[in-house]
Order: sequence, then structure tokens, then C-alpha cells
Amino acid sequence: AKERGKNNFQFYTSKLQEHASRKMELENGLRKALEHEHLSLYYQPQVDLETEKIVGIEALIRWNHPMNGMIPPSEFIPLAEETGIIIPIGKWVLRKACEQNMYWQKLGYKTIPIAVNVSVRQLQEDDFVETVTTILEEVGLDPQYLELEITESIMQNIERSTIILNQLKELGVKISIDDFGTGYSSLSYLKHLPIDSIKIDKSFIDDIINHSNQGEMVKTIINMGHNLTFNVIAEGIETQKQVMFLKQHECKSAQGYFYSKPLPAEQMEKLLSHGVISNGI
Ligand code: C2E
Ligand code: CA
Ligand code: CA
Ligand code: CA
Repeated sequence: AKERGKNNFQFYTSKLQEHASRKMELENGLRKALEHEHLSLYYQPQVDLETEKIVGIEALIRWNHPMNGMIPPSEFIPLAEETGIIIPIGKWVLRKACEQNMYWQKLGYKTIPIAVNVSVRQLQEDDFVETVTTILEEVGLDPQYLELEITESIMQNIERSTIILNQLKELGVKISIDDFGTGYSSLSYLKHLPIDSIKIDKSFIDDIINHSNQGEMVKTIINMGHNLTFNVIAEGIETQKQVMFLKQHECKSAQGYFYSKPLPAEQMEKLLSHGVISNGI
């Protein structure tokens, strides 16, 4: 029995070590990726449901690994947040997204905001507002064309978050609440934050047609959002039926594979040159 206990222990520690070294490998890999510009941004349009015009673009990070191909953010953002490397990565994303938007504006496409995902950890860095200010200045982008997407987890430190969000609002950037409905945000707090938009999480959208509960939930979020004068965007739209439902309940804009998957910059540019996304209805 003693032997077995020891073996189990060895098994356990080696699993732990394996886990730890995989983490370190991933972290080192990320550092190198950042250094060698093996990170890239994909762009997904946000569409006005009525006109099908592109009204915004979300930038989504990808890790283009020399050996493993495109790695989705779900596989490295959590670790990047844990280790803190999200801070330099986040700065890179902000700059890149602003530069891309500025570039598109200079080409003469309709001026629309670019949305960038910001981790709570990043938002709560001492110099976050300063970083955003500097990047906007250096790139020359008007602050109203940058939208920061944050999640409801900012509520965990509501006092500090409120100060930062107010400073960002003062600067003139737009703020949206991502994955709305999945966190524990209290509506009474939301009302006091300088928020421009809420993005209804895909999990609510998935079942709006088949499950009346979900449908009711989405209707409630749309109405509440409008009452608080927020812009409401539905995320993860994949079907025509979902589009019909949302239009019927006066949701103004949407984002999802139904309109377009996230695209590399050159392909996004082609969409921009059309301005309208038409789905063979
Ligand atoms: P998110 O911000 O909620 O982004 C939406 C995710 O849903 C994206 O996944 C997008 O590709 C995907 N998506 C959009 N429409 C559809 C659809 O119709 N169907 C389905 N099945 N999926 C759809 P992605 O690009 O893999 O990003 C995953 C998450 O990683 C993001 O979720 C965001 O939380 C995080 N992330 C991405 N880029 C960044 C970044 O630059 N910084 C930070 N901090 N997080 C990022
Ligand atoms: Ca987002
Ligand atoms: Ca989201
Ligand atoms: Ca998310």
C-alpha cells in the first residue's frame, strides 16, 4: 500500500510539473510571438439590421504559430491574463486596431468605430487611460472611432472601474459591455456607468427561436438597453430566423457568421469597399 501511495504521489507531481512546464512553454511562446509579430488581428463587421450597412468592426486577436498554425484566443488569452503578458499584448492590439482603422479612414471608407477587447486586468493597470490617450494621439485617430469592449467582471471592482471608465468617456472613446447577461452586473450600477452599448451574449441568441425563455430574455435585454439609452448589439447571429426575431423586437445591430466570420484585414477591406453586406435572402 505504501508503494502505491508513493507512485500516486509521483504520478501527481509529474502531472503538475507537466502542466507547469506547458504553461511556461506557452508563455515563452507568447513572448516570442509578440516580439516577432506572430500575432495578428482578424476583423468582424457589425451590421445595421435594417440597412445591412457596416456600422462597426470588432478586432479579434490570432496567434499565427510557425508550427501549429492559427491559434484561437480561447487557447492563450486566459494564460496571458494570468501571467500578465496580456498587458503588452493588449497594447499591441490597441495600437494595431487603431492604425488599421486610421488606414481605412485614409482610404476613404465610411468612418466607423473599431472595437477592441480589453481584459479587466488591462483596464485596471495604473496607466491604462494614459496608454490609450498616447496611442490615439500617435496614430492620429479621433477617439470616437475607438470602442473598448469590457466584460461585466469590471463590477468586481466597481469603484475603481467607474473612475477609469469616466476618464475614458472624458477622452471620448466609446465603451461597450461584452457578453452581456453572462456576468453578474447589477442594473442599478450599469445605469451609473458611462456605457454606449451592450452586446447580448451569443448564448442567449443561440436558442431564441426554439426556446421561448431565451426569446423573452433577449426581448427584455433589448428593451432595458433602449430604456437606458444604450445601443444594443446581438452577438453570434447565424441564421435568418434570428435576424427576423431581432428586427421584430427592434434590436438595431448584429454581429455573427450570418453576416461574416472574422476576416484578415485585406478581406475586411473588400467588405468595406462594398459598405453593405448582402446575404442572399
Ligand atoms: P468575444 O469578444 O465575445 O468575441 C466573439 C467571439 O465569437 C469571437 O471568437 C468570434 O470569432 C466568435 N463569433 C462571432 N460570430 C460568431 C457566430 O456567429 N458563431 C460562432 N460560433 N462564433 C462567432 P474568437 O475570435 O475566437 O475570440 C474569442 C474570445 O477571445 C473573445 O470573445 C474575447 O473574449 C477574446 N479575445 C479576442 N481577441 C482579444 C483581444 O485582442 N484581447 C483580449 N483581451 N481578448 C480577446
Ligand atoms: Ca468582444
Ligand atoms: Ca462577446
Ligand atoms: Ca467572450
